[in-house]
Amino acid sequence: MTKSVKVDVIVVGGGPAGVASVRTLTAGGARVALIEKTRFPRSKPCAGGLSAGAVRLLDYDFTTVVREKVNELRLSYKDKKPVIIKAEEPIALMTKRAEFDSLGIEAALSTECQYFVLPEISGIELRRDAVELIYPGLRIKGNYLVAADGAGSTIRRLISGRPKGAFGVAIEADVDANEVNTQEIRTKVDFGFSPGGYGWVFPKGDHYNVGLYSWNSRHSRFVNRPALKQYAQISLGEVNLSDIRGFPIAISCSKKSMGSGRVLFVGDAGGFTYASSGEGIYGAILTGQLAAKSVLIGGDVVNNYRATSSRYLRRCGLNRAFSRLIYPTLGVSYPLFAARLNSQAMRASMSLVDSEKR
Ligand SMILES: Cc1cc2nc3c(=O)[nH]c(=O)nc-3n(C[C@H](O)[C@H](O)[C@H](O)COP(=O)(O)OP(=O)(O)OC[C@H]3O[C@@H](n4cnc5c(N)ncnc54)[C@H](O)[C@@H]3O)c2cc1C
Repeated sequence: MTKSVKVDVIVVGGGPAGVASVRTLTAGGARVALIEKTRFPRSKPCAGGLSAGAVRLLDYDFTTVVREKVNELRLSYKDKKPVIIKAEEPIALMTKRAEFDSLGIEAALSTECQYFVLPEISGIELRRDAVELIYPGLRIKGNYLVAADGAGSTIRRLISGRPKGAFGVAIEADVDANEVNTQEIRTKVDFGFSPGGYGWVFPKGDHYNVGLYSWNSRHSRFVNRPALKQYAQISLGEVNLSDIRGFPIAISCSKKSMGSGRVLFVGDAGGFTYASSGEGIYGAILTGQLAAKSVLIGGDVVNNYRATSSRYLRRCGLNRAFSRLIYPTLGVSYPLFAARLNSQAMRASMSLVDSEKR
């Protein structure tokens, strides 16, 4: 016999975007079903860096999972002189995604939402007055569906038949801190190691996270295991890489990919990552919250969502245009680019302090 569940809003995906949606919706009085396909703790390929923007939006205590406060960042571009950004207050906070996301799920489950860990969706029915998700032996019906199911969104595939949008690529791994001989390595970002992107080393207490990013998926052949091993060797010496994982980064930032009818796409499912840096947690939390508020307002919810997100959409779109322009010209523009990052880092440091004071 098929069981049936009816709620106001179905949220699919329990990453930062889904958690933000659930918390905003339940705070507004909506009955919510949160659906995940993986049991937590689960790992997600991500460097786990939280910007000041992300910190400002988080509405639950996450301080227990902060592994490093970044006060110093070393930037380099090929053989040019490295730039050291230093701030008295942190410019970013480092977490491990498995820990950050487990806390996120706890924060979602501390609300009144119904939680389901289910296998892959078998089908979706879009009606004029409702959306229904079909699982073996279970149908979940909602007035609205918030798709927070990440860069490879199954909901998008079920609705439009194919993954859509623009993607960057990233690959990352962990290195046991005991294997690294020098204490000098702090947080560093090396532009130009992968075309259209950078390599990074982020210390996180008992391990280092090391990775490569390119905003353009056409460069995926440079963002792979051999390249990551080479970068890790140059940066950290002869070390073993564990948990090597690559993943697409969704960077469309387009009005068109935000949803239609009763379905809203948030976070990576909507393509809301900044192309120049690959920072997506901020966009995930922001769009998760904005989509939820749009549903709570009612009426034409997709239109509400587009209207309330317009500022972020503009910024995110400009950031993609900026990446297209800046990465091929870094050979000449690097000093200016580094100066811009420096001033952004100083502003971030100030607003992190403000967030902590709240
Ligand atoms: C290597 C790498 C490094 C990165 N580093 C950073 C960084 O340092 N800082 C930063 O801000 N951003 C970073 N990003 C980007 C960031 O990881 C994403 O933008 C962010 O995770 C998006 O959050 P989300 O909630 O939209 O999606 P996700 O975090 O991907 O969460 C999606 C959730 O949906 C679930 N799900 C998927 N399909 C289904 C389904 N069919 N049914 C039910 N559940 C489903 C998944 O299990 C998952 O829990 C990085 C990305 C990569 C790949």
